[in-house]
Amino acid sequence: MAELICRRILLKLSGEALMGTGSFGIDPEVIARVAEDIQGLVDAGIQVGLVIGGGNIFRGEGLAKAGMDRVSGDHMGMLATVMNALAMQNSLLKLGVPARTMSAIGMEQVCETYVRRKAVEYLDKGEVVLFAAGTGNPFFTTDSAASLRAIEIDADLLIKATKVDGVYSADPVKDPDAEFYPRISYDRALSEGLQVMDATAIVLCRDNGMPLRIMNINTPGALLRLVKGEEIGSLVESGND
Ligand code: UDP
Repeated sequence: MAELICRRILLKLSGEALMGTGSFGIDPEVIARVAEDIQGLVDAGIQVGLVIGGGNIFRGEGLAKAGMDRVSGDHMGMLATVMNALAMQNSLLKLGVPARTMSAIGMEQVCETYVRRKAVEYLDKGEVVLFAAGTGNPFFTTDSAASLRAIEIDADLLIKATKVDGVYSADPVKDPDAEFYPRISYDRALSEGLQVMDATAIVLCRDNGMPLRIMNINTPGALLRLVKGEEIGSLVESGND
């Protein structure tokens, strides 16, 4: 069996990754398939922390544009991430994978409140920990929450699973000539404004030496191949380009 290149990962999924071909909410088939991929990682002995966005339900920015107070909109966005986390927790538990949601906003009847030390204990026991409600603060994104939690739990790698294969010079869906970057520095990703993660999230990774891998979530089994050392997607790390 191939050797694992990491022991503990933080996987970030956007809310849209759970939407499938729909335009809102969760596609049960998609969430079940992603849960199977996560099961593959757990079975291989990887400790998995998970951050799921909420963009398939609500985003504060969009709600603010429609006239809502931004902070209320961000609260709604964070609650949307809790819904997604509960759905994924359910899918994992149905597969027999131990999973636990911890929310940055207290809601004790629904799930545990995030406490870093407890989260690490659960990870050490082999439970998937779903970090819900982002950072718990408005004006942030779940990309930033993913960077923050990855650093806090001392993950070996932060993986952002998206709908594209990695980092490109332009949006590959719109521009067929977009160049694929198998490896890129944090600084170049920032200075060129490449669609990797938002700037706060990249800066957190850069300043704390957290390697970041961008890959496509729609390739079944790719996560497992990645942790077994296959070069999948793009790696964002320090150093020269
Ligand atoms: N959000 C927030 N603080 C956080 C994380 C998220 O206020 O720390 C809100 C914000 O309104 C955001 C929404 O939750 O738009 C959903 O998160 P995000 O847009 O990151 O989801 P994704 O794009 O990954 O689906």
